[in-house]
Amino acid sequence: MVVPLFWACSQKPNDVNYSKIKNMDISADTNKVVKTEEEWKKELTPDQYYILREKGTERPYTGKFLMTKDKGMYTCAGCGNPLFSSDSKFDSHCGWPSFDKEVAAGKIITKDDNTLGMRRTEIMCGRCGGHLGHVFDDGPTDTGLRYCVNSVSLEFVKDGDIAKTTNTTMENKSIDTLTLGAGCFWCVEAVYRMLDGVISAESGYSGGNTKNPTYKEVCNGTTGHAEVVQIVFDPKKTSVEEILKVFFTVHDPTTLNRQGADVGTQYRSAIYYRDENQKKIAEDIISALSKEHVYDSPIVTEVTKFDTFYKAEDYHQDYYNNNGSNSYCAMVVKPKVEKFEKVFKDRLKKNATH
Ligand SMILES: [Zn+2]
Repeated sequence: MVVPLFWACSQKPNDVNYSKIKNMDISADTNKVVKTEEEWKKELTPDQYYILREKGTERPYTGKFLMTKDKGMYTCAGCGNPLFSSDSKFDSHCGWPSFDKEVAAGKIITKDDNTLGMRRTEIMCGRCGGHLGHVFDDGPTDTGLRYCVNSVSLEFVKDGDIAKTTNTTMENKSIDTLTLGAGCFWCVEAVYRMLDGVISAESGYSGGNTKNPTYKEVCNGTTGHAEVVQIVFDPKKTSVEEILKVFFTVHDPTTLNRQGADVGTQYRSAIYYRDENQKKIAEDIISALSKEHVYDSPIVTEVTKFDTFYKAEDYHQDYYNNNGSNSYCAMVVKPKVEKFEKVFKDRLKKNATH
């Protein structure tokens, strides 16, 4: 690992919106929720049924989320589909909670509404079809849109509770493992050791041709291995999706075989999946990040079936905690750890130290 003289200059991209990655929902839109009116009636409160299913409207200035300023995600009260981030909420003075954009494309479907002698555009949940409100093109922000939404149609999940809303397909496994290459493994391991729900994070080598490679051989670039971190986690506390969101926050997935001044195939960006679920989540998140243009350049992360993990030499394990004062750690690892702590501050282990 080379300590660059002008690290700050080679470090890019700086303008990535990392909270956007954290809050992005990548899994919801393909699962449509279809229920009979009888089933909806049983599940929803009378108010929710009236508004979500019968397209009613709550009285202005009465909704429970009108003044809410907390950070988090507004979800559909009918089906739990994440719809609006608190970042997109603004005070429109119209009497209903207002947002300037949906949290991801396709979350919301629209329909012309010519009732009540007006031409309006109705908005509905893309997953269950529940009525939310209307969208107008007089918004004050750069999207120009004002999503005017009934509070009754929404639930609110505060930041920190977000992991509970994601990836329910893993709920039957008590532990799961994911192996990731994101450049220098010292950095990646240091970050995952702090994430709530991670049981262990070990530095090692994957994706190459020789058995039991040494650090020196891997650094020469001839064995084909990537520096990786193998993460064992509790799917009840975190998820494949969250682990990959951290992955896309703490490294640059757009630079081929390189992270900053660390250059070589051993520093490639790679997700080694163990099953179809991990593969699908990895592909979905990459396509969502690309669609939202989160990075300036295309993502070059490889998504490859996991083969073998060789644990690295002992002195590489927990390197940052044991060598925090050396210059590489101070200049390269520390900023990444700090960025992670900032974006995922509500998701750190209680006793996290570094
Ligand atoms: Zn819904």
